[in-house]
Amino acid sequence: MRPDDSYVLRLDGISIEVTRKRVRNVNLRVRAGGEVRMSVPLRTSRAAAEACARAHLAWIRERRAEAIAREERLATDVSAGELVSVWGRPRTVRLRADGETPSCALEGAELVLSGPSWLLGDASRAVGARRVLVADLLASELALRLPEVLSACESEVGRCASAVSTRWMRTRWGSCTPRTGRIRLNVALAERSPSCLVTVVTHELCHLAEPSHGPAFYSLMDAHCPGWRAAQAELDANPPQMFGPTAKSAPGSAG
Ligand SMILES: [Zn+2]
Repeated sequence: MRPDDSYVLRLDGISIEVTRKRVRNVNLRVRAGGEVRMSVPLRTSRAAAEACARAHLAWIRERRAEAIAREERLATDVSAGELVSVWGRPRTVRLRADGETPSCALEGAELVLSGPSWLLGDASRAVGARRVLVADLLASELALRLPEVLSACESEVGRCASAVSTRWMRTRWGSCTPRTGRIRLNVALAERSPSCLVTVVTHELCHLAEPSHGPAFYSLMDAHCPGWRAAQAELDANPPQMFGPTAKSAPGSAG
């Protein structure tokens, strides 16, 4: 349910969710997947909000087209010969008709998906099942590696998370609630180099000491994770591939 201070404008087939907030300026955003959000000062009338959105319609259309194209690119099918990155190494997908139970395993430089012959076809059931297999493999890779990385990072930083959970996120690699000490990590970290996992875990633990991204935060990062800039550059250059169910996370960067 939307709060009372929100409403939806429809302009030329595009829905724009408008929220009245205690802000000074109008803020227009196009989120991953192409949703359009606009926040406006409390006193802004619906007509004024609509006029403003209409004035930016060309910009909205362009950003939506980009966001939707990106989403489609991320939703690439897992088919034979495609590359899937696991721990920073590209693995070539191989499909093998073998046995009754669908499975997915790393075999050297290959990611082998095997199972009954229906799994290897183009039907949407097969395509979906292959994505789930890859998502599950990445989730179990992360679950295997995380305990050791977490405990090493906690000793390094000198802070402990009260709880760490993993989930699929569209736009963030990790997030942290300093007040409760809870940390959330993107399962897609298993696609990137192991140093990226170390960097994101360290980043979130440093937030337990320093919630903002000010100079104090970055001197903690330099002290506890000297290679963080290279890992951050790798994360920034390669958005998550999103094989898993896409949680609707808030837009934003590293978290
Ligand atoms: Zn952060």
